[in-house]
Amino acid sequence: MPLVPQYTHYLIIGSGLTGATIARILHDRGEKVLVLERREHVGGNVHDQVHPSGIRYHTYGPHYFRTNSPKIWAFVNRFVAFRPFRASLKSWVDGRYENWPIAADYLNRTIGPGWQPAFQGQAANFEAAALGLMPRLVYDKFVYGYNYKQWGVAPRSLGADLIKRFEVRTNNEPELSLHQFQGLPELGYAAWMQKMLEGIPVLCGVDYLQNRSDFSARKKVIFTGPIDEYFGFDLGRLQYRSQRREHTYLPATDWVQPVVQVNNPSLDAGPHIRTLEWKHLLPREEAEKIRGTLLTREFPYSPSEPSEYEYPFPDAANQALYQQYQARAKAIPNLLICGRLGEYRYYDMDQAIGRAVVLAGRIG
Ligand SMILES: Cc1cc2nc3c(=O)[nH]c(=O)nc-3n(C[C@H](O)[C@H](O)[C@H](O)COP(=O)(O)OP(=O)(O)OC[C@H]3O[C@@H](n4cnc5c(N)ncnc54)[C@H](O)[C@@H]3O)c2cc1C
Repeated sequence: MPLVPQYTHYLIIGSGLTGATIARILHDRGEKVLVLERREHVGGNVHDQVHPSGIRYHTYGPHYFRTNSPKIWAFVNRFVAFRPFRASLKSWVDGRYENWPIAADYLNRTIGPGWQPAFQGQAANFEAAALGLMPRLVYDKFVYGYNYKQWGVAPRSLGADLIKRFEVRTNNEPELSLHQFQGLPELGYAAWMQKMLEGIPVLCGVDYLQNRSDFSARKKVIFTGPIDEYFGFDLGRLQYRSQRREHTYLPATDWVQPVVQVNNPSLDAGPHIRTLEWKHLLPREEAEKIRGTLLTREFPYSPSEPSEYEYPFPDAANQALYQQYQARAKAIPNLLICGRLGEYRYYDMDQAIGRAVVLAGRIG
């Protein structure tokens, strides 16, 4: 029995930021849209939930919204109010909380003001690229172990491009990101995503790939799931990394760490890569009223279940395999595969929205 009327124009697979943005734009244009989501909730990986203590936490890891685009900021504020929030992160190094990104103060204190990067020239891999920004001692303490845990391989086997996400500060600015617009949806990410999809038909708990014959689209299928899964992995599997999350509620302790996220780059300090203390995301006066605190430790692993995929693996072999899948997808009429899983690319939230706006503009 088909679940869906034949007259759906656009079938959108996935209700994350990519699918929801495209669905919203097409729906507002008067197109008939149906969204399928295999999880029991909409919103993809930005989903959040509230612990019985009243502390909101992010189900799939911490999400700090930031953008330099007034258009994207206006777009997201159209659905829900955002309250100002600028994340500050620390790394636990030699028994101290140090700023992340690495601050000028740390370099001056440990090496001296005349410090030099350890590498010059064309970086052939991530390790060389990172040493091109900092002295080896700093690389060893902040970057090597963190990336070893994150990717499960030595940083020298990762692509140099990964360095684009790293920074060494020439000042002591403690904020993670210097973007103009930063904030958190006041009532949480789940509420934002529900609002974004308001009025649009969405079926949750439906895996398109298990039910392909039940659905059809007159104009286009827009698939935001993993591209290798779409093709049954027949050219091989794209590699991902994810985090297992271990939550601990401490009823008798109000605060544990100075900021929301503390990175744990030392290989000797346990396998977890970072610790989140979610109360820091609440407005201070609200947080002070809550007794106890909720901590989450994240442990990286290599997932085999596509529903657990988080970070695309940054190396040349996976990029080459992705290109093969992409070429096949492009050859199929009325199919668009996009988003972080479809394009096998890490997008920040604002980038995912910006990309989806561009793609929606090209449709129809
Ligand atoms: C750990 C982590 C932390 C992050 N932190 C930040 C941050 O601080 N700031 C920031 O800007 N960005 C952050 N991001 C990036 C952000 O999560 C992405 O930009 C965003 O999730 C991309 O949305 P998407 O729709 O492309 O993918 P997704 O959110 O993954 O959505 C894809 C959806 O498709 C569904 N789906 C897949 N296959 C099928 C199928 N066969 N049938 C039906 N449904 C299907 C999935 O269930 C999912 O809901 C982070 C990402 C990770 C992994």
